[in-house]
Amino acid sequence: MGCPAALYLAAAGVGRLTLADSDKVDLTNLQRQILYRSESVGAVKVEAARGALTAVNPDVSVVALHKRLEDFSELVSAADLVLDCTDNFATRHAINRACVRHARPLVSGAALRFDGQLMVFDLRRPASACYACLFPEDAQVEEVQCSTMGVFAPLTGVIGAMQAMEALKLVAGIGESLDGRLMIFDAKNAEWRGVRVKKDPACAVCSRTASSAAGR
Ligand SMILES: [Zn+2]
Repeated sequence: MGCPAALYLAAAGVGRLTLADSDKVDLTNLQRQILYRSESVGAVKVEAARGALTAVNPDVSVVALHKRLEDFSELVSAADLVLDCTDNFATRHAINRACVRHARPLVSGAALRFDGQLMVFDLRRPASACYACLFPEDAQVEEVQCSTMGVFAPLTGVIGAMQAMEALKLVAGIGESLDGRLMIFDAKNAEWRGVRVKKDPACAVCSRTASSAAGR
């Protein structure tokens, strides 16, 4: 999702994009990671991405971090908005925690096999749910990733483009964001479903008791 999302954000002229990834481009990535070309195979992903994005829009400042981040606090506090295009729960929760702490809107996307999900957590608003309200950190979840399970390539384009759309709406203050709703897309049957998401008053990450305990 990061590839299509970053392309649309750069093309739209967002001022600064910070990309973080520890991988190099692999031939098997090319079917869905549309920033890369055959000659990108073996290159550091964030460097290849910066090249492709600045070719589209040289006025956008692209910060390329070639590492696997665990602490997101500093980066999130310096950003206006965060897109989560990752594929594992530990990273998703770490990003969510930083967004709750610094009150930054989080646009979260997921795609696996033929199933896509899109969520917005506008954490500038105290009443908004966070990612952990929906998927608690201590929940027993089966970790399945695109790299092992596969994903229908155009689905990452659909979800990534929608992440960019929601991000641009939030940054520009246009329309109604998806905050408080989870969109689920079944690509096989071409069906969208929307589910209301409410803040969990007992959420260990964003509830008032959790934040006051953390502030002590
Ligand atoms: Zn929460």
